[in-house]
Amino acid sequence: MTTSPTLARRATYVAEEGDGPVRLGARLGAGRKSPERLHDVRNPYDGRTLASVSTCAEADVWASCEEAERHLDDDFPQFQRSRVLSSAALLLSESQNPFARIIALEAGKPIRAARAEVARCIDTLRLSAAEALALSGEVVPMDATAASAGRLGLALRVPIGVVGAITPFNFPLNLVAHKVAPAIAAGCPVVLKPAPATPLSALAFADLLADAGLPDGWLSVVTGARDEIGAALVAHRVPRLISFTGSCTVGWSIASAAPDKRVCLELGANTPVIVEPDVDVDAVAERVSQAAFGYAGQSCISIQRVLVHERIANDLSAALATRARHLVVGDPLDELTDVGPVINAASAQRILSSVREATDGGARVLAGGEANGNLVAPTVLEGAPRDGRLWSEEIFGPVVLVNAYADFDAALSMANQSDLGLHAGIFTNDLSKALDAARRLRFGGVLVNDVPTFRADQEPYGGVRASGNTREGPRYAVESMTELRFVSFAAPPR
Ligand code: NAD
Repeated sequence: MTTSPTLARRATYVAEEGDGPVRLGARLGAGRKSPERLHDVRNPYDGRTLASVSTCAEADVWASCEEAERHLDDDFPQFQRSRVLSSAALLLSESQNPFARIIALEAGKPIRAARAEVARCIDTLRLSAAEALALSGEVVPMDATAASAGRLGLALRVPIGVVGAITPFNFPLNLVAHKVAPAIAAGCPVVLKPAPATPLSALAFADLLADAGLPDGWLSVVTGARDEIGAALVAHRVPRLISFTGSCTVGWSIASAAPDKRVCLELGANTPVIVEPDVDVDAVAERVSQAAFGYAGQSCISIQRVLVHERIANDLSAALATRARHLVVGDPLDELTDVGPVINAASAQRILSSVREATDGGARVLAGGEANGNLVAPTVLEGAPRDGRLWSEEIFGPVVLVNAYADFDAALSMANQSDLGLHAGIFTNDLSKALDAARRLRFGGVLVNDVPTFRADQEPYGGVRASGNTREGPRYAVESMTELRFVSFAAPPR
């Protein structure tokens, strides 16, 4: 199969060296309703303009919602929805490099990590295609009570309605796929609002789905530099479910703004990992360093807090600091780069000011602690105060805290000492400690002998407490995007 001209146009435009910025419309099922205005999408590494993208207005959001609503009763059965998703997986597997390049350019993600994101997106599509086929309901045992005996009862899983999807900048392809693909599997048309900094992957993905056979009107992408269009999507009467991934502040404000909708929140974290003294320190340091500094720490499950047993604390800190100093920081398109820029100058400033606050509170800088433009040096801080901002909030930058503990109970309570609870990790050879951690760490996921930065696309992924209220992963997202309709059959009255 060859790539269609539409896909090739979208997916390669930023891959063409020497060309000026490309002008891109939003993908609006209902067509454009507001006067044409554009905003620039820039490369966070060098500030170069990559594309000029439509700035949608509220009217475009409203029209997209109404267009999506018109498709709710389309004849688009499960086998066809699955086929579209499978074809999209195939098309994407043939266009991995251009998609990776778009991610690297607009999000500043090192190209090797960008390729890994594309590979994961192919899996997300495949898993969603399988869920589209598996979607079913169950038989309700009507004979279980005298009142209902003699009837046949079914609990059907039906689509919840139009899905409003709002996504962050840091996984501009796979997190879009984690919302759009399960929605298609569930039978829900989607209005997607990607992050202002990274709309190009979303637009290319929408074209990919169109090329794979997604009917017109099933997916609109409303782009724009203003957060107001996200708010307009949340406020509109049509979307029955808002699927949001992003920061805690915005996420919880959406939940209170839409009490009449199902609001699924995937939010931030300040991920801890516990390191017991019975492990290979160098091997663990290598894994932790990749998980803390890869993509400049801009993953919701980047390791932020390393809790290490005091017997190996100095060795682990030193091993991490050495690795931090040797990582290649620079151009995301360079194959050798480990750490690219953070998304913008404001983020770099915010990260540095948090580091300053920690050092003012007594933390020692073992590596990094400075920035060159948007390139923040991988930073290792030892002994950061546990009542400070860095301990309790999300840094979202290449900064890791190393704090020692004396006994295992203390390690568990240090890990739990935060309102955020997405993933936590533990490295140990002691099975009873691993089991104890799985029971007592109050997180959405506990990873044993793995960095907590690892996410399997099929896992029930999501946070507890302030980190969210839902689980993504195609099977679980499809469950959220459907609701049960009870149907009872009785014999006609005689
Ligand atoms: P953000 O919260 O600033 O923005 C996320 C999206 O919300 C963007 O599309 C933005 O335009 C939109 N938005 C902003 N204000 C809005 C409003 N009032 N109403 C509706 N939409 C609005 O997040 P970000 O900086 O793009 O991404 C980083 C954050 O995302 C981090 O906190 C990170 O931990 C989190 N994140 C979580 C997960 C997860 O699965 N739990 C995954 C990736 C990122």
